[in-house]
Amino acid sequence: QWFVKMKPLAAPAIKAVQDGEIRFVPERFTKIYLNWMENIRDWCISRQLWWGHRIPVWYCQDCQAEFTAHQEPTVCPQCGSEKIEQDPDVLDTWFSSALWPFSTMGWPENTEELKHFYPTAVLVTARDIIFFWVARMIFMGLEFMGEKPFHEVLIHGLVLDKDGKKMSKSRPETNIDPLDVIDKYGTDTLRFTLATGTALGQDQRFQLEKIDGIRNFSNKIWNAARFILMNLEDYPVEQGEIKLDPATLSLADRYIISRLQRVIAEASMMLDRYDLGGLANLLYDFIWNEFCDWYIEMAKPLLKTEGKKRYTTQQVLVKVFRQIMVLLHPYMPFITEEIWQALPHQGETVMLAHWPAADDQLLDPLAEKEMGLIMNITRAIRNIRADAGVDPGRKVEAIFLAEEDKQKILTENRLYLETLVGLNKIEIQSDKAVKPGKAMTAVVEGVEIYLPLAGMVELELEAKRLQKELSTLEGERKRLAAKLANEQFVTKAPPIVVEKERQKLADIEIDYEKVKSRLVEFS
Ligand SMILES: [Zn+2]
Repeated sequence: QWFVKMKPLAAPAIKAVQDGEIRFVPERFTKIYLNWMENIRDWCISRQLWWGHRIPVWYCQDCQAEFTAHQEPTVCPQCGSEKIEQDPDVLDTWFSSALWPFSTMGWPENTEELKHFYPTAVLVTARDIIFFWVARMIFMGLEFMGEKPFHEVLIHGLVLDKDGKKMSKSRPETNIDPLDVIDKYGTDTLRFTLATGTALGQDQRFQLEKIDGIRNFSNKIWNAARFILMNLEDYPVEQGEIKLDPATLSLADRYIISRLQRVIAEASMMLDRYDLGGLANLLYDFIWNEFCDWYIEMAKPLLKTEGKKRYTTQQVLVKVFRQIMVLLHPYMPFITEEIWQALPHQGETVMLAHWPAADDQLLDPLAEKEMGLIMNITRAIRNIRADAGVDPGRKVEAIFLAEEDKQKILTENRLYLETLVGLNKIEIQSDKAVKPGKAMTAVVEGVEIYLPLAGMVELELEAKRLQKELSTLEGERKRLAAKLANEQFVTKAPPIVVEKERQKLADIEIDYEKVKSRLVEFS
């Protein structure tokens, strides 16, 4: 049995991490590493296995000499005997793996690859092999190359089965074969699911319900791509960068371009600190909500126009979606490459496209604010329609009472409101105007919305429904008020529970007032 004496190797490896030459991400793994290295024992490297690097030690059967050699010897260096035999054992797997950063680059020759790729920037691995592999690569690198093998070590958790058990060969019931998952859901979907799983360095359970959601996300991206490509048949073949004419940009264009700059800036920061889960969530929300659900919907009416407006919309769709493909590429390499190739583009592959840089000149806080108003009004009207049970395909009329500046925003963007919430008639009036009679209402950022739904919903039935809702709320309000008036409860229950009940009561008060005022509209 052969051993490696560890203390002399460990000392520089400890120093490299203490001095910050090598950095662990997340930082807490530094402690684990140092703890192991400071308490290290000599390392038995003999293994009785068939496969592996054989131990480079020979024994002479005549003079009993033990010797090592770089090249396979033919005779004993001591007595010249040819009766020599190599140690039958092989090196511990981790001994060979520890040489990986340089042995794969042609070491001990000083090759071009070795010069270029050693040391490397970042090593990514799981937390369970920090000692087995990471620590050993560090001290072997320092010993044989005289330099650390990498600057940063990114540690991720393990993928556990759905019950939180570690997958293991000896317990087949815990095994999930990634190839099966890929067949069923696609490679990119699996990859994205794992990336969004959890905070960096923490284990995650593999749950099929979650991967279903991400598959929907993949489909959403495909559908967006199909929609965009379908609308590019008259789009000119591009020469150079897309140059937008600021005068022709719609509110939605300005909004999505501005939001994209913020997303790029945030994404770059997240990537710098290896917040891969956070970045995946950021892209998911931006693509799903802002790009697909809002921007594409708002682009639709403009694509139906002709000339400059249609062309600008096409440009913005291509420009923004292409950058989205670049941002998403590290997570979904196949889908993004396929789509990027189909979009008008320059260059050979998305893999070689530059990571986008945020352009502060394109930030447009005003557009974001105005768009926020349009979005909130849209949501409010959708809620009213749903509450009133209005058929989704049915066009209705809306009256807005607003201050002058908001009247202007509504007027400029009435096309969006018409399309997004199915309005066939829009009246925009001063907030001083007479309030319409029987109508369902909502208030958004000071804008009063009236939907005169008479003739479409049974107003009397609706009044009865509201009355019933009101008495339910009243009952609940009384119950909670009594509970909170009870000395016993307030003093004995944990403060967090009491606070929760208080919050509940406050929410109910608001709902109550809302329903009550709506009921007034019906009387
Ligand atoms: Zn000998």
